[in-house]
Amino acid sequence: MTREAGLAALAAFVPRAGHDYASLRNYDRGPGADSNVSGLSPYLRHRLVTEREVVGAVLAEHSLAAAGKFVQEVFWRTYWKGWLELRPAVFSRYARSLSELLPSVGADYDAACRGETGIDCFDAWVAELTSTGYLHNHSRMDFASIWIFTLGLDWQLGADFFYRHLLDGDPASNTLSWRWVAGLQTVGKTYLTDAENIARCTGGRFRPTGLARVAPAVIEDGVPAPGALPHFIVRVSGNSPATGLLLHEEDLNPESLELAGIDIDQVAGCASVSGRSPFAVGPLVSGFTERAVTDGLRRASAHFDAPHTVLDGLTAQAVIDWAAANSLARIVTSFAPIGPVRSLLDSLAPALAAAGIELVELGRSWDLNAWPHAGKGFFPFREKIPALVKTQYLP
Ligand SMILES: Cc1cc2nc3c(=O)[nH]c(=O)nc-3n(C[C@H](O)[C@H](O)[C@H](O)COP(=O)(O)OP(=O)(O)OC[C@H]3O[C@@H](n4cnc5c(N)ncnc54)[C@H](O)[C@@H]3O)c2cc1C
Repeated sequence: MTREAGLAALAAFVPRAGHDYASLRNYDRGPGADSNVSGLSPYLRHRLVTEREVVGAVLAEHSLAAAGKFVQEVFWRTYWKGWLELRPAVFSRYARSLSELLPSVGADYDAACRGETGIDCFDAWVAELTSTGYLHNHSRMDFASIWIFTLGLDWQLGADFFYRHLLDGDPASNTLSWRWVAGLQTVGKTYLTDAENIARCTGGRFRPTGLARVAPAVIEDGVPAPGALPHFIVRVSGNSPATGLLLHEEDLNPESLELAGIDIDQVAGCASVSGRSPFAVGPLVSGFTERAVTDGLRRASAHFDAPHTVLDGLTAQAVIDWAAANSLARIVTSFAPIGPVRSLLDSLAPALAAAGIELVELGRSWDLNAWPHAGKGFFPFREKIPALVKTQYLP
């Protein structure tokens, strides 16, 4: 839950990022067992460590050819985020369907969420997810496949269940991965798991029975054509009377924002997990996110030598009160991609403008360079990875 813990996890993983990762990453040995994967997602998701740092640390010890599989997985995250930025309606459609479905959930949904389905792996994964906030990628795929095709539950309800319990719960990676399993991302192509596959990937820990044998694709409105990417800048300069830095859970790496020597006079921020779902998020998720934001505030305060304030919420009133109390004329914050924090910033902007306070959103060149290539499928995007990597690390 701190950047320090994320950096320690990165250092421990780097030696395994080459051949070991490529050959063993699909095996889920279970909670508490030695892992073949990095476990970095909660840190990456909040940018306690950035994609640039993770890939940079791995490539300092391995060639791109040797660590290609791992680097590609990190770019899956970037790809999903870019794909959704280009089609924000897919997320609003998901959120709308969810609020329509939730009031009429039944006993089968409750049993699935309690892990009382009688399907051994599924019930164990519910327990693992709710007690650790994590599931291995392969188990997430198998879980989603069973949820949709064996239990016959709506994919949006499963995505919501994950989003409320995963420490790395992310609007893009989560929603689009569930859509992929349901056959909505690659239209008509679903992911159907089976008992053998699950036994193999879990080292024989599970042998579920009664799994669906067919996976008809979920039918929904088609995928919208890609629109324009949001405009954001990656660098801000120029002095202003007084500037505050506003931190949110989408990017907790204030030290690496390109502020070109701007003096930060005040720092503030808060976690905003309640926007993830109409239901309450799990206690592990709210605790993790709050501690991550606290860590970001503490580090920003030390880095910029500026006092920090924990806001009551990312509301216009809370931000304007903070700005007024400290005579701030400009607020700098990290760009927030599609999701609940984006919606909060969207409602903040006009209120700040009306109060005469400038709001500057700073993005990252990592996203700026990669997202324009996320309009089509992952395979054309993958071709761009070597060039994207070069752009990041060449002087
Ligand atoms: C149904 C479903 C829901 C998912 N929901 C989320 C989510 O909410 N948040 C999330 O971060 N990931 C999600 N994923 C993707 C993936 O499962 C996790 O990123 C991965 O398991 C995290 O564990 P790790 O850090 O040990 O991964 P590693 O294998 O060590 O990978 C390194 C990093 O690459 C990225 N990555 C790896 N695989 C993927 C992938 N398939 N898609 C996107 N990024 C990837 C992550 O940032 C990860 O930390 C989901 C996958 C599925 C099938």
